[in-house]
Amino acid sequence: MKVCVVGSGGREACLALVLGRTADVVVSPGNPGIPGSVTTPVEEIDADLYVIGPEAPLVDGLADRLRGAGRLVFGPGADGAQLEGSKAWMKELVTTAGVPTARFGRFDEIGPALDFLRALPGPYVVKTDGLAAGKGVLVTDDLAEAEDDVRDKLAGTSFGDAGRTVVIEEGMTGPEVSVFAVCDGRRAVVLEPAQDFKRVGDGDTGPNTGGMGAYSPLPWLPAGFAADILDRFVGPTLAELRRRGIDYRGVLYAGLMLTPEGPKLVEYNIRFGDPDGQVVLLRMTSDLAALLAGAAAGHLTDEPTYDPGAAVLVVAAAAGYPASPSTGDVIEGLDEAGAVDGATVLCAGVAADPDGRLVTAGGRVLDVVGQGPDIATARARAYASLARVAWPGRHHRTDIAREVTS
Ligand code: AMP
Repeated sequence: MKVCVVGSGGREACLALVLGRTADVVVSPGNPGIPGSVTTPVEEIDADLYVIGPEAPLVDGLADRLRGAGRLVFGPGADGAQLEGSKAWMKELVTTAGVPTARFGRFDEIGPALDFLRALPGPYVVKTDGLAAGKGVLVTDDLAEAEDDVRDKLAGTSFGDAGRTVVIEEGMTGPEVSVFAVCDGRRAVVLEPAQDFKRVGDGDTGPNTGGMGAYSPLPWLPAGFAADILDRFVGPTLAELRRRGIDYRGVLYAGLMLTPEGPKLVEYNIRFGDPDGQVVLLRMTSDLAALLAGAAAGHLTDEPTYDPGAAVLVVAAAAGYPASPSTGDVIEGLDEAGAVDGATVLCAGVAADPDGRLVTAGGRVLDVVGQGPDIATARARAYASLARVAWPGRHHRTDIAREVTS
């Protein structure tokens, strides 16, 4: 089978690696650190299966265009992609479906928005309706800060049109878990859960990022957790999508918060998490290409199987990330890092300079993954590998999966 992976970051590097165990893979556009990267536009590539990595092309209807040309595609059409493209649409749909989630309101005007906000107990959560590269969410205990944020978003000053509609939510508390469901339009399989670390600094301090690390499995989850999420979250959501005529074939990524009242949905994404998807995919021992092709064709087959051990991923970030990542810094030590036992180094934000050297080209430059029989071993391998890569101003978190016992 020939598979075309669409995208250019760490998630796509991982998809290409894992799919490549059983399929021929090309990545469009990929990056110079991802084997199989091609500059050919996706529509001109002849493949048996297309796996679309990021949300933006899905929201933009790439899956529809490829399907319209008779291609087999893993990824929802623009209709289903609204789950991530519009938070208000998603919240309304899941509320109809009876999925547990925080109370919310959707507003285009300042007066009613402030009234709703002031009636909440706090913490306060203010989100842009549209896509904002993971940066459109404010969570705060400070009502005045929340009010200012609502004003800025609605005025279009902070996020342009993406913020002209806001979703205001009651704040929830508890640890967060990422659950990826592979859906074939009617049925779904839930993959092993993972957890990611969003803040730039140790101890969850500093600004939010796209994600600084992740690990899987989560030994502290209760037994039956994944089955419960399938029953109470993914299943009802797929049924409601179908009721609206939406044939959802792709990843349904449930961002969940384990609140004192039980798991609640924070958000749905329409693709694998980055970097939390990587630690799940790298542990998979069954045939990922067959799984995704089955879902794309509308008939999921077997449940996937996993290495019983652990995977821990640490992001090596560019100087200045997340505010203003430095580009063009030469990356040293990649081969040495990849040679560490149990380590995999995924090139996420890299480019080639005119001399053919790999240089930084994005905030999250490398995903360094360690795998081993338990979390402590996997973690030690990830950090041993990370210690071998270098560029000016490189930084990372030192506490990924540190507090977890397995
Ligand atoms: P989202 O883009 O909707 O996933 O939000 C980004 C992050 O904001 C989440 O991963 C949570 O950490 C936090 N967040 C979002 N909604 C809520 C909420 N209702 N209560 C508490 N935290 C939230």
